[in-house]
Amino acid sequence: MTHVAIVGAGPAGLFAALELAQGGLEVTVLDMGKPVAERDRGDGFDLLHGMGGSGTYSDGKINFHPQVGGDLMEFMSPNQAWALMDHIEALFERYDVAVMTTDDQETLDLEKQAAKAGVRFLPIRQAHIGSDHLTAMMERFYEDLLDLGVQFRFRVRATDVVAEDGQVHGVTLEDDELIAADAVLLAPGRIGSEWVRRVLQQHGLSVVYNPVDIGVRVEVPAIVMADVIAVSYDPKFYIRAPTYDDMVRTFCVSPHGFVVKETYAEEGVVGVNGHALKDRNSNNTNFALLTSINLTEPVESTTAYGVSIARLATTIGGGRPTLQSLGDLRRHRRSTWSRLSKSPGDVVPTLEDATPGDISMALPHRIVTDLLEALDILARIIPGLDADRTLLYAPELKRYANKPKTDRHLQTELAGLFVAGDGAGVARGIGGAAATGEIAARGILAMARA
Ligand SMILES: Cc1cc2nc3c(=O)[nH]c(=O)nc-3n(C[C@H](O)[C@H](O)[C@H](O)COP(=O)(O)OP(=O)(O)OC[C@H]3O[C@@H](n4cnc5c(N)ncnc54)[C@H](O)[C@@H]3O)c2cc1C
Repeated sequence: MTHVAIVGAGPAGLFAALELAQGGLEVTVLDMGKPVAERDRGDGFDLLHGMGGSGTYSDGKINFHPQVGGDLMEFMSPNQAWALMDHIEALFERYDVAVMTTDDQETLDLEKQAAKAGVRFLPIRQAHIGSDHLTAMMERFYEDLLDLGVQFRFRVRATDVVAEDGQVHGVTLEDDELIAADAVLLAPGRIGSEWVRRVLQQHGLSVVYNPVDIGVRVEVPAIVMADVIAVSYDPKFYIRAPTYDDMVRTFCVSPHGFVVKETYAEEGVVGVNGHALKDRNSNNTNFALLTSINLTEPVESTTAYGVSIARLATTIGGGRPTLQSLGDLRRHRRSTWSRLSKSPGDVVPTLEDATPGDISMALPHRIVTDLLEALDILARIIPGLDADRTLLYAPELKRYANKPKTDRHLQTELAGLFVAGDGAGVARGIGGAAATGEIAARGILAMARA
């Protein structure tokens, strides 16, 4: 029987495992983290590693759109891409994940209002599981995969793939153990993107760099965003910032949510993210405001560039994210705790483990300019967003680099070596990661049946 080794128990690896096991293949999932019941969300390592990957303690906001969280149309026709996303949605429905209903007229009105402000608003079918419900869902998913015969090996770190004569033969682990396999799927998430790049380079496989998204997490009183969120739970706005003609977008809106610290220990970098809980609310709403950076020769590694910016921001924040009010940023002065809490109307930060400071010392001028312009433009649709009290946390870094050259099944130039999810730069969220896991699994099944 064809044996498939999957590196990474995140959504990409797990949805691939489901499809492969249902297709009758023998599947082993390898992950350096722990089973879901043993993960501790307060532990920096557990936050991103283990059963469910970084999805387990994410917000669980899922976008069922083939061009959000990756672009499935790179690998298939638009009709096929929409059908795949419908299939992923149906799989989530098995775990009681339901798409939120929206009012068509209100959606159209928001689209029009955005268009008049020169902004693109993208309506999307969305579901919200909530961080506090994800662990239970992951437990059920885990049990179902075990029932299908999927083998899990936790607390093991994959170090390399083994190949001979242009064909993959397995994966090696930290202690040199060889996991022999006829096909290998690399799905190690964003945290594993540098590892993917190294493995591909060692095997002489080509890599295409994706843009890196850098910006801030914006936090405002929830009431400021309430009207827009009533129309779309995670509204996606695309704004062209005039000075540099850069595209800025909103991402991962967390209504009544919390800003959280994200640690990339291996790189010595601290950033921010955000999530909303189903059973606990804050008075604030936060979202990422990101600008995309594409580099050309001679500096093509957007990841290295993004990490170097995040490292600078980490230094200026004294090992913590930097927090500044929009008013202070505009006045070219650093924020301090006393400036941040002067009047009763001020926004109380949901992330206290941050250093009040000056974001213009943490991020390049071009990015700061893009973000300030985008906030001004967005405020035409969301009045109050550009108020002095609006809080900004830096850095918010989204890396999608290290995209291997693949065929449409996500098979690399090395026969039998497939990739999926955020770590391979083909996804940027749970929905996209799951969908690319499914694409790779279908490719492996086709290979096994050939
Ligand atoms: C705080 C937070 C909030 C988020 N909120 C949302 C949201 O609301 N909606 C959304 O769509 N997305 C959200 N995301 C992103 C989402 O979690 C990811 O896009 C998604 O989980 C990516 O799936 P993946 O399978 O590619 O990788 P991951 O989920 O990152 O899983 C990768 C797994 O691979 C393992 N691994 C890595 N390298 C190795 C190795 N060498 N050997 C063995 N194992 C390895 C890791 O331990 C990890 O468990 C959020 C992320 C975070 C951190």
